[in-house]
Amino acid sequence: MTRWGMVIDTDRCTGCGACIVACHAENNIQTVGDAEAARGRAMHWIRVERYYEGEFPDVKVRFMPVMCQQCGAAPCEPVCPVYATYRTPEGLNAMVYARCIGTRYCANNCPYTVRFFNWFGGEFPEPLERQLNPDVAKRPAGVMEKCTFCVQRIQDAESVAKDEDREVRDGDIKTACSQTCPAEAITFGDLSDPESRVSVLAGLERSERLLEDLSTEPSVIYLKGGR
Ligand code: SF4
Repeated sequence: MTRWGMVIDTDRCTGCGACIVACHAENNIQTVGDAEAARGRAMHWIRVERYYEGEFPDVKVRFMPVMCQQCGAAPCEPVCPVYATYRTPEGLNAMVYARCIGTRYCANNCPYTVRFFNWFGGEFPEPLERQLNPDVAKRPAGVMEKCTFCVQRIQDAESVAKDEDREVRDGDIKTACSQTCPAEAITFGDLSDPESRVSVLAGLERSERLLEDLSTEPSVIYLKGGR
């Protein structure tokens, strides 16, 4: 059974932020502006965390892109009173926006703080609405939203593979962030296929998962920086 996953090489990430812009464009994510961001209402399905290693003057700056970790044992799922978030057979932590009633229990229970409450409903005044992705619905105010590994792209590739009477091939699907990253720091694929590129990278010695001790079983694997 497919288990979609992602490997992020922090040695390659330069912190440029292109993945954030690509994610906004692909998924019709609103921008809330400085004032609302300062009130804790920022909306980015992927963020780039930065931290420092070493002591001055031998200090190294590190970057770590963080999005929904698509946990195998997701803390957000059991606390949703209306089953708006659930695990799919392919290992995605899916969102049913039409069911969400905005209690925000899921966001409070997510240790990765990757769920965002839609406060404003997303205004895209002319001519901005022309850049909206027709494959992704605009979310109304009052629902939680988050990364779903560009599920619309996954479904599209699965549909093409079905039409051609074949399986989805490794590399057929690129999420918006992995497609855009100029450093090729993000790799997407099927973790259940031992020969896929993500599986090979996930097997490297420098792989680790974020907050592994919580036993959330994330599907996002980070490669530690060694530069
Ligand atoms: S686009 Fe790539 S290099 Fe730039 S911040 Fe994102 S992951 Fe890092």
